[in-house]
Amino acid sequence: MKNIILFGAPGAGKGTQAKLLAEKFDLIHLSTGEMLRHEVAQGTALGQRVKDIMDRGDLVGDDIVVGLIAKALDHGRNELLDEWDELRLRRACGIGDNDPLPEKPQPSIIYDGFPRTVQQCQMLEFLFQKKQRRLDRVISIDVPQEELVHRIHERALVSNRSDDNEETIRHRLEEYESKTRPVLDYYKVSGRLITVDGSGEISETNSRLCKVMEWILQN
Ligand code: ADP
Repeated sequence: MKNIILFGAPGAGKGTQAKLLAEKFDLIHLSTGEMLRHEVAQGTALGQRVKDIMDRGDLVGDDIVVGLIAKALDHGRNELLDEWDELRLRRACGIGDNDPLPEKPQPSIIYDGFPRTVQQCQMLEFLFQKKQRRLDRVISIDVPQEELVHRIHERALVSNRSDDNEETIRHRLEEYESKTRPVLDYYKVSGRLITVDGSGEISETNSRLCKVMEWILQN
């Protein structure tokens, strides 16, 4: 079971690409942005705490996002595991064939939008130690600054995300430069970083990423 971080600036296409990769390679996709938006939409106590922070384009507290990841690691499931569970249950009830139960699948995890600060990287290492996991690779999707800005503005026209407006976009990019970019150096030093060209069409980036992912999953 591999643990792979998909890293990139806002607008780099992390969310889109993580979803495509998760489908193709049967990965569990953990997106802190989506988890937080879910909390906000459900109106939970946590959602109420983070709503304004997200609307401003600020980063949410490290302990909050690490807490969400820790919870997801405990409960994280995907269809592969659900199918296996169903099979196990059917066999336990004497339904289905008599072949032995296949080995329990160990789906790999792709982290999207996390970690976003050096502190989160350190907290993730601690979490992995506790849960006996290890970080395999960090894939950084590299997109030139002008293309990033253009893409987020295009997305703002069609998305209903409350943080896709002019002022917040600028602030999210500032947050990225000051707090998130240092994450790249953190992983570069450990030799786990792979950079992929993320310019151009979604399908172009996707085929580059698929090649890298195939290699990671086989090695
Ligand atoms: P984008 O990459 O386009 O900014 P995300 O969905 O990844 O979109 O994140 C949306 C917002 O959620 C961020 O601007 C931030 O407020 C919050 N958020 C998501 N992930 C994290 C994280 N790892 N640490 C802190 N805040 C986060």
